[in-house]
Amino acid sequence: MSFDRIVKGGKVFTADDSREADVAIKDGKIAAIGKNLPADGAEVLDASGLWVIPGGVDVHVHFQLRVAGTVSADDFENGTKSAACGGVTTVVDFSTQGPRDDTLLAGVEARLKEAEGKACVDFGLHAGISAYKRLKDPAADLRRLLDFGVPSVKMFMIYEQEGWQSDDADIFSALRLARGLGATVCVHAESERVMNLLIAEHRAQKERLGAWAHALSRPNFIEEEAVQRALKWAEATGGHLYVVHLSTGGGADLFKQAQARGVNAHVETCPQYLLLNDEVFKDKKTGHWYATCPQIKKKADNERLWQGLADGTIAVVSTDTCPFTTKQKDAWNGDFTKIPYGLPGVETLLPALYTFGVKAGRFGMNHFVSLISTNPAKLMGLYPQKGAIAVGSDADLAMFDPDAVRTIDSKELVSRCDWSPYQGLTMGGFPVHTLSRGEPVVRNGKFVGPKGHGRFLKRRPFGWKDLPEPRLVPPSGGR
Ligand SMILES: [Zn+2]
Repeated sequence: MSFDRIVKGGKVFTADDSREADVAIKDGKIAAIGKNLPADGAEVLDASGLWVIPGGVDVHVHFQLRVAGTVSADDFENGTKSAACGGVTTVVDFSTQGPRDDTLLAGVEARLKEAEGKACVDFGLHAGISAYKRLKDPAADLRRLLDFGVPSVKMFMIYEQEGWQSDDADIFSALRLARGLGATVCVHAESERVMNLLIAEHRAQKERLGAWAHALSRPNFIEEEAVQRALKWAEATGGHLYVVHLSTGGGADLFKQAQARGVNAHVETCPQYLLLNDEVFKDKKTGHWYATCPQIKKKADNERLWQGLADGTIAVVSTDTCPFTTKQKDAWNGDFTKIPYGLPGVETLLPALYTFGVKAGRFGMNHFVSLISTNPAKLMGLYPQKGAIAVGSDADLAMFDPDAVRTIDSKELVSRCDWSPYQGLTMGGFPVHTLSRGEPVVRNGKFVGPKGHGRFLKRRPFGWKDLPEPRLVPPSGGR
């Protein structure tokens, strides 16, 4: 057999294996893994001294999202370029249910049009639900989505005023349907009514408090109460719950308890909840740039979330990438309720987790791969096409020098965001080369791939039976 390309001499890490091996590619797929594979005219990519991992799978991004009177700063083209430069080769974005839509597929098709021909790495979509009660036939709707390759919906426990909120009955109903169909219900868990009360109280003092009011109006119990409720509906129905962007240590504790009871639920967190704490909101000049929803919590939460990643309670690290420039953020004019919420992140996901997870000794390389690639691929119906280095899998690979480091400077990142929450931090794990379906899209750290190379991924239903344990991959030891 002749190959198109061989990644030669690297050290290959998957979620459960580490070895020195060449990886051979044919027609965009991995065709062989082994030592001294014959080149025979294939292009050889020298990976000696590099670590080769399956490309990152970031299942939570928002490119060119229209929100808060503006649009997130990276479109599908630039956003996926920045992903590739960070070693992320699959992203999953979200569609929106339009203000009059009584089905979900129309929103998915509209969003697909925005991404197709622009995305530079493969992408999937979650179907956003903003008005569950308006759906004419939710069961038929979910079935249509599954046929289309969209086995996950997203529901918000907040945003009542914006008209996107799902109440308890909506979430309960969706989970009950999801159970029979193999769909996943992704939930943004925050407690609306108490949060609105605290926002109104702090709004009265917004001049004095500035961005700090954002933190004061969303204490930890706002998320914890909602996580508890969502877990209860998952437990009652047996439907697969996936809580997005967990920010609190208390939320991780609730998941640990629920998993011990066998509740069909998984959870992700994001680098901002691991690396940053709410002191950032106290800076009068830059505090509001960091506003996200849910917002960044305390140091103790960072620590508990890291622990949850290491012990398997938290299965996935995604980014909730939704960048806004300083100009967009500065339009808040001192009112913390007017800040466009969101941060850049997809480009620095792998470096952040490698540096502060693996290099800091919190978990080993195999566990790192499970958190940023294999587990999200499994949970979102993409494995083993994505999230694996195995014969027959897509040749999505990131290769990095384990010892190289660089200091984060927003000017050097591909994202159009003109600031970085990690400015000045030193990180390793930036890929030297990235392959997407066998095509080099990043060479020597620079994006070289063609626009529109990314394809829409038809994802499979969630196989609870294939994944009997909520803890997908046991924590591993050192490297
Ligand atoms: Zn989000």
